[in-house]
Amino acid sequence: MKSKLVIYNTLTRTKENFTPINPPFVGLYVCGPTVYSDVHLGNCRTFVSFDLIYRYLLHLGYKVRYVRNITDAGHLEGDQDEGDDKFSKKARLEQVEPMEIVQRYTLGFHHIMQLFNVLPPSIEPTATGHIAEQIEMVKTIMNNGYAYEVNGTVYFDVEKYSKSHNYTVLTNRQLEDLLANTRDLGGQDEKHGRLDFALWIKAKPEHIMRWPSPWGWGFPGWHIECSAMSSKYLGDTFDIHGGGMDLAATHHTNEIAQSQACHHVQPARYWVHTNMLTVNGARMSKSAGNGFLPQELFTGNHPLLERGYSPMTVRFFMLQAHYRSTLDFSNEALDASDKGYKRLMNAIALLDKLTPAATSDFDITNIRERCYQAMNDDFNSPVLIAELFEAVRIINTVYDGKGSLDQQNLDMLKTLIRDFVFDVLGLTEEVAQTDDFGKLMDFIIRLRLDAKNNKDYATSDKIRLQLQELGIQLKDSKEGTTWSKV
Ligand code: AMP
Ligand code: ZN
Repeated sequence: MKSKLVIYNTLTRTKENFTPINPPFVGLYVCGPTVYSDVHLGNCRTFVSFDLIYRYLLHLGYKVRYVRNITDAGHLEGDQDEGDDKFSKKARLEQVEPMEIVQRYTLGFHHIMQLFNVLPPSIEPTATGHIAEQIEMVKTIMNNGYAYEVNGTVYFDVEKYSKSHNYTVLTNRQLEDLLANTRDLGGQDEKHGRLDFALWIKAKPEHIMRWPSPWGWGFPGWHIECSAMSSKYLGDTFDIHGGGMDLAATHHTNEIAQSQACHHVQPARYWVHTNMLTVNGARMSKSAGNGFLPQELFTGNHPLLERGYSPMTVRFFMLQAHYRSTLDFSNEALDASDKGYKRLMNAIALLDKLTPAATSDFDITNIRERCYQAMNDDFNSPVLIAELFEAVRIINTVYDGKGSLDQQNLDMLKTLIRDFVFDVLGLTEEVAQTDDFGKLMDFIIRLRLDAKNNKDYATSDKIRLQLQELGIQLKDSKEGTTWSKV
């Protein structure tokens, strides 16, 4: 199976056979979150997509070193090399240490990843923990003639680099177009060229997060952290570099330039970019203010939500789209995913109740083959899920006594579910609302409704608050009351 995996490579804009540099080892680097605020559901989609990729590579038997960084320094307002950094700004507003902000949101991020059953990476390096490596890299880039210092800030010289390299190799954009879309330098600007970007930034007196360097006190530019950390842990050229599509034009373009200017090689063989989660067609983002927090989605506490959805329903919803397609958020789509996820889990619950027959009406080998074909075709999870629903149909048919499976096919079916539903898709069995616990919840909800109808609001509030203390959130709507675990 291994040799058949095909991955769409942004760098070449084609699907390519996946051949690791040093099999069975695979180096995977994914740009991680910036931890000055909560991750929104869009960020989660990207990490769930790479979790699928990581899980499938592991399933194929590769020994994956998965590095996903934490950006905890030097992230300035906008993409320009100026303004306040977001950590210091928030720390000042809340009168706490910047590292308290970092700690709070790193823990929050880990908690959300656990709820979504996202496997932890092998290494999770932080920008602040790798200042020395970043300074070394800036020094080498300067020695190689691709960077210059002005008043304590070091800039990457894009014009000089472009003379011998293709700066826009990742996006194929024209340099002239880029220049046309970039602000004029003006007399005050220290940069030599409009496209130059900062590798190291001089700290203003009010800037709290600062480190000593050969160019005075300052802090690293955003792009250099990923170049320094990926090469430290995975080597100058490694197998796969990933991140959201929005990172390709600037962050990843600059990472490639930095690595070429420092190590004279491409940092990664395959560049993988995940598409965006959108709300009414617009990209979900922190700055646009249309970002759902995962907790809001679980509880249903958001004006755009009709009810809450469990983490596995949301994970299933994300996996029902291919990672390179946009995924638009809607209550209807989530309702459909909720139904689909429950149908899948209900069928799996029946598996142990099936008894083998002497003959088989179904050949599971074919389905298994098609599941691999789907995943080998650039991790096509929606096609995989469609194949798994064929397995669901078989389970239900056999359970209803309308078909049979022999021992061998029944065993294969169980292995198929374990491999693809649990290991590869990373779904887990949540307490279904149709089992005993669900029935108990229905009973409690009915009691609360009776209390409400009797105008006994003290009791109905008491039930809601007690459940909340137990981590169960009720959501009332015109269709009735639903519950979800927080
Ligand atoms: P950030 O914390 O903003 O640096 O983003 C962390 C990761 O989430 C990056 O890989 C982004 O490309 C990705 N990302 C941001 N917005 C979205 C979105 N709406 N849908 C999917 N991924 C996103
Ligand atoms: Zn990065």
